[in-house]
Order: sequence, then structure tokens, then C-alpha cells
Amino acid sequence: MISPVWHPFTQHGLNEPVPLVSRTEGAALHTADGRRIVDAISSWWVTTHGHRHPRIMAAIAAETERLDQLIFAGWTHAPAEQLAQELIAIMPAALAHVFYSDSGSTAVEVALKMALGYWLNIGEPRHRILTLAHGYHGDTIGGMSVGARGVYNRAYQPLLFDVGTLPFPEGDGRSTLDALEAAARAEDKPAALIVEPLVLGAGGMLFYEAAVLGEMRAICARHGILFIADEVMTGWGRTGTLLACEQAGVVPDILCLSKGLTGGAVPLAVTMASAAIYEAHLSDDRGRMFFHSSSYTANPIACAAAVANLAVWREEPVTERIATLIERQRVRLARVAALPGVSNARHCGTIAAMEIGGNDGYLADIQPRLYAFFQSRDVLLRPMGNTVYVMPPYCIDEPDLDRCYDAIAEAAARFA
Ligand SMILES: *Cc1c(COP(=O)(O)O)cnc(C)c1O
Repeated sequence: MISPVWHPFTQHGLNEPVPLVSRTEGAALHTADGRRIVDAISSWWVTTHGHRHPRIMAAIAAETERLDQLIFAGWTHAPAEQLAQELIAIMPAALAHVFYSDSGSTAVEVALKMALGYWLNIGEPRHRILTLAHGYHGDTIGGMSVGARGVYNRAYQPLLFDVGTLPFPEGDGRSTLDALEAAARAEDKPAALIVEPLVLGAGGMLFYEAAVLGEMRAICARHGILFIADEVMTGWGRTGTLLACEQAGVVPDILCLSKGLTGGAVPLAVTMASAAIYEAHLSDDRGRMFFHSSSYTANPIACAAAVANLAVWREEPVTERIATLIERQRVRLARVAALPGVSNARHCGTIAAMEIGGNDGYLADIQPRLYAFFQSRDVLLRPMGNTVYVMPPYCIDEPDLDRCYDAIAEAAARFA
């Protein structure tokens, strides 16, 4: 029977197999036809501790005994209140307010709207957003506008709003910082800079120095440009610290979190904002309230899952697991780095990346061949062009990690 399901980022005309997964556990996907696949990309960067973490599953089950979905405009519930308190306690102190939504893309839309609302409400309207080249901030029109342009948004490009794009920070980031300084002094004053801290994920696992992140933040502070940290991917330990911003001592004005917020179990996002941004919307004038909501804002079951995720962070040795994974990745990456066919092996926290063979961009022929090859080895690795990266859940054990790197070594020999 032909499935009516239209999958994301999938060319159905190529009739590539779409495996049916019937169970997930830890770092593994179990398919209906009896295969056990190592989930080496955390189901597209969301699963942090491992699939179906018992504590998070139990919290979801327990919450269904009390609440399902509740209007959040003017109403509230315990899981959202508790989660907000706990986030305020562990995130940088200046981030005093928590706005809920349900995906990374919406967290970014909210951040951009908050920034623009701030400038309008303080009586200095600004509309220009600055971004980094090769950035990715989601697939909604606003998210695409502040992200890199390419084949994946070609059809919509005329509708995307204009942004100021800073060069990707190579080395000491001089050209990026100079471009930021120049943009800050321009006539058309920037409202905000949005960045992925330390790692540009979908742009090809491009890493840059913490010092450059710190400098970008400092320049924004000096010129009164709002600094938005999109930690949708980098948050929750991926780069080795809870937030990537920590490594640069950076506190943003606005912080976007999603993916690992519930441990990757169910969709939820938050946009955290400074008091200044909140207060710019605070008034007895209803015309100045923050005009954004989605139907499922702060879904109680999702909030309960996130509260359980925070308990896992507090009460389980998550930091130690991350440190162990970093070390295990480092050793294995060093082993494949020297192979012919592998270039530019690099790592940032729990994320390891490299290029295999030549590079012809996102639609490079090598991509589907690598992807299929890894699947034939029962490993879920989904290269971007010829960039192969390993970003597993923190619970992955050594045999499963070996399986990934054995497959990478074999691929390097085959596709060099
Ligand atoms: C994945 C991602 C997003 C979009 O998140 P969705 O939940 O897929 O909408 C935004 N920003 C970054 C940095 C991401 O990696």
C-alpha cells in the first residue's frame, strides 16, 4: 500500500525506503522488520539523555492524569509555573522571563518579534536584523529570513525579509567583528543580532571560537543592539556545557531553547528574555502587549516532561556522561581523522564532524549514497552534503559508538 504521508526533507520521487520504527530505547531505534539502528544523530538533535528516559516518560504519564491542553492566554497551570521557576534558576540571571511556544522555529519567531516590539515600544523603531553567514534558525518564513539562503528556500526567497549578514567567524573572527562594528555604526541601526553560539549546525557543523562569540556580544552591548542566542541545538549540553554561551561568559538579551528542553521526548520551546524586553511590553495600554500565541503554547504534558528533564540534570550524573562521551568521541575521531578520504575532522563538546570525499554542496550525489551506506550498517547518520557528523544521545555505549566509527571508516575507504 502506498503511504499518503508526505515526509519532511524527503524526495518521494526517488522512492527511497522509509523505514518503519516501532520502538525506541536509549541510543537505538528498533524497526518493524527487526533491525536495531544506532541513532547517532539523536533523532535530528533532540534526544539528549536517550530515548524514552524512564523518568521523563513517567512524568508524562502522571501529567495525563491531571491535565491535557489548556488555554495559556490569561490562564496558567503548575507544570508551566514550575518549569519557568526552574529555568530562571539555572539559566543566566539576567533572563528573567519565560515565553512558551512549541518548536525551535517558533522560539526564533518569538525572539525576533520581541526584539522588534522592544524597539517600537521604547519609541525608537528599528527593523534590521543581523545574522551570521551559513546560519540556520528554522523553516518558518522569519526563521528562513535570518538563515542562509540556498536550494532549500529558493522558492520563497522573494518573500524573505532582508537582513545584514556577517561573514562566518574564521580564526580570530576579525572580519566578522569588523563587519559587526560597521553595521552597528550604519545609518539603519540594527535591532538585533541573532547567532547560533559556537556551532552553526545545519550550516554544516561549522565551529567558531568562544572568544569571537564573547566579542560579538560585547560589540552588541556597546552599541545597544539586542543579542539573541539561538541555543535550540547547542543547548542542553551538546557543546559540553549546559549552554554554549557559558563558554564565552556570554549572557544574551534573548535566549531560544527547544530540542533538548524535554530531553527530546515531546515538542516544547521557550524564549527567555531580559527584564528590559519584558518591561518594554509592560503598560496599561493593551496595544503594547506581546502579540504572539500558538494553540499549544505551554502544553502541560510537555512542560511536565521538561520539569522531569531538569530533574534528570540535577539528580543524574549528566555532566559526567557528557564528559565521557566527549572523550570517547575524541579518541574515535582521531582514529578516522588520519584516513585518506577524511578531511577537516573537528569536534566541539559532544559533536564530532568531518568531510568525506569531495564537496558539491547540500544536494551532492555523495549524500544519498553515504546515507544509504550508513543505514546498511544499521547506523543512522544523516550527512549534510559530504559533511558527516556524530551527535549521539549521552547514553550511547562504546560498542554502539564503535559501530558508528567503523561505518565511517568503511565509508571513507569506499567514497574517498
Ligand atoms: C533545529 C533548529 C531550529 C528549528 O527548530 P525546529 O524545532 O525544527 O523548528 C532553530 N534553530 C536552530 C539553531 C536549530 O538547530
